[in-house]
Amino acid sequence: MQDLDIAIVGAGGAGLTSAIYTGRARRRTAVFERLMTGGQIATTDIVENYPGFPQGVNGFDLAQLMLQQAEKFGAQVVYEGVESLERTSDDRFVIHTAVETYRARAVIVTAGADYAKLGVPGEAELVGRGVSYCGTCDGAFFQGQEVAVIGGGDSALDEGLFVTRFASKVHVIHRRDQLRASALLRDRAFANPRMDFTWNTVVERIDGSSQVERIQLRNTVTGEASSMAISGVFVFIGQVPNSHILKGLVELDGGGHALVDQGMRTAIPGLFVAGDVRTGAARQLVSACGDGATAAISAEHYLAERWPGGE
Ligand code: NAP
Repeated sequence: MQDLDIAIVGAGGAGLTSAIYTGRARRRTAVFERLMTGGQIATTDIVENYPGFPQGVNGFDLAQLMLQQAEKFGAQVVYEGVESLERTSDDRFVIHTAVETYRARAVIVTAGADYAKLGVPGEAELVGRGVSYCGTCDGAFFQGQEVAVIGGGDSALDEGLFVTRFASKVHVIHRRDQLRASALLRDRAFANPRMDFTWNTVVERIDGSSQVERIQLRNTVTGEASSMAISGVFVFIGQVPNSHILKGLVELDGGGHALVDQGMRTAIPGLFVAGDVRTGAARQLVSACGDGATAAISAEHYLAERWPGGE
């Protein structure tokens, strides 16, 4: 069993920032990642609101820089998904991955969130065959075709705008008549001739035999049913926190986010939660990184207090 000072679960912006801090504090740090480093930004075309990049920066490139920085200070990235976490009677944590078991004195969970699913018939069946949760990854498959983007938030518009580089028309289908997205993205979307808006409408079914062919819609005001012929459906209706390893260990809010104090401490000494998986997060890259730094500083204080001599 490998012994660590700090185990960080999730290598998104929050986790990599925590690792930069704990690595610099010379703590034996491992960052566990089940998919790819960077989390949600790794599939973001341009990040425009992260300070220091006035021209914007590609999300994947930014994530790689964060990774290099964490590794430079000695953090080790372990590409294994954490399956469970337990606290032992000697104030340590045991971390089980599909591959191995690790022991750590403190744990920072920065597992982020995944895109929410519509839960309508046809969605699960047609994933990868026209249904997608990532415009940046899959937009190029829809050259010259019409697609739908579901949702009215920043993700829907940001990703929808990216997909207009390929698709001939991007139909934004939103359940209300007002967008939740920020003014800047709203203005850009309204000004783009390839973006089209269908208001007060929800998706009831996605049809297609081998590929998406059509979506069945319902107007939320009139109750009227309609259908739209399209080749792709991009779903951006919010996120579900990856908090399953915290269930039963710490208190979660109604949305499944972990309750923490201002120092990102949970009620369990030595267990910290930061970024999109904690309650009340601003869900921005810069705030996730800020959370990661806060959690790392709290973890350092905890280790110095609990093990003042180092052992
Ligand atoms: P979000 O802000 O929660 O928006 C989700 C959208 O989906 C809302 O418009 C919501 O409608 C709609 N929705 C929710 N459930 C639905 C359902 N079952 N059926 C149909 N529509 C449904 O999520 P997000 O857009 O993923 O953004 C998450 C966070 O990331 C936000 O804080 C956002 O600012 C940030 N973000 C920022 C950027 C950027 O700055 N460039 C880019 C991406 C994301 P209602 O409006 O009616 O609730």
